[in-house]
Amino acid sequence: MIHVEQLTKSYGMIKALRGVSFDIESGEIVGLLGPNGAGKTTIIKTLTGYLQPGGGVVEIDGLDVLTHRSEVQTRIGYLPENAPLYPELSVQAYLKMIAELRQIPEKEQPKYLTEAILATGLSEHLTRRISQLSKGFRQRVGLAQAILHAPRLLILDEPTIGLDPTQIVEIRNLIRRLSKHSTILFSTHILSEVEALCDRVIILINGQIKTNNRLSELSSTNDSILVLQERTSGVHETLKNIKGVRKIGMTKTSDGYLAYRIMGEVNTDLSPIIYDVARQNDWAVRELKRDVQTLESIFNKLATTGGDIHETDHSDNS
Ligand code: ATP
Repeated sequence: MIHVEQLTKSYGMIKALRGVSFDIESGEIVGLLGPNGAGKTTIIKTLTGYLQPGGGVVEIDGLDVLTHRSEVQTRIGYLPENAPLYPELSVQAYLKMIAELRQIPEKEQPKYLTEAILATGLSEHLTRRISQLSKGFRQRVGLAQAILHAPRLLILDEPTIGLDPTQIVEIRNLIRRLSKHSTILFSTHILSEVEALCDRVIILINGQIKTNNRLSELSSTNDSILVLQERTSGVHETLKNIKGVRKIGMTKTSDGYLAYRIMGEVNTDLSPIIYDVARQNDWAVRELKRDVQTLESIFNKLATTGGDIHETDHSDNS
């Protein structure tokens, strides 16, 4: 549904995007995560045809955004960072205006309007002026305009920014409901938002993609952590001889114990074998676990090192 290849964009001397490539399949809900200034809005504006890229390919539904801009825009629902609302209009009048702009035939407008209004829970606010709505409800109006023409692809730029916790939950629930019918790409710098909503996360740092993975793949690694009570000779050598071990690192825990990080080959959980080996050798095991990463730990690692998540952090002894 979305194909992006080697996308670049500079604003004068600032390189906002440095060769970004990714694909999004139909039906996915994908979070574009990155710190301030990472380039999220720039990607979104280029995808939606509001910004000319410096170089690279951007295709939506097989259509090049540069050469088929208006056709692409009819297929997308877009909620920009600051939704273009008209505060003096009522909700009803505003959505009617959007229906006209979207060139939905007069006869079909009631059907489209009703669906968008129901989906966003705006039925009881139709006659209110947009200027009188709370921020959360204004955001719902922004979402209603984005989904009015029933697009199969929704692109949302920081949809919950500035909302209070209750409003955030409401908008998230709404996005979840919308994802049943549309592919969704949304940008955020809120980790819990990605965890709550997404199938996949693309992490962008300084104009480059550092991670593009399903959330389930991110959380588990093939690393095991073994913490021993006391310094024991031959541990490193013994661990290295276990089949499937790729690399071993060793660090001191904050409370002074020796912790071995045993990195396994792909799709190998070494913990059961390590447990057997430890028992056979009478090691005083304080802890043995498979390493589980959180999105927060991955993101922080990337944000501070700018590196690849699988190749950082180990004081390697092998
Ligand atoms: P935020 O989370 O703060 O919204 P972002 O990830 O959306 O950030 P962008 O808005 O895409 O990041 O900005 C990427 C880089 O490009 C930043 O360094 C920003 O200062 C710069 N930038 C964005 N728009 C412009 C512009 N119109 N002129 C000059 N520089 C710009």
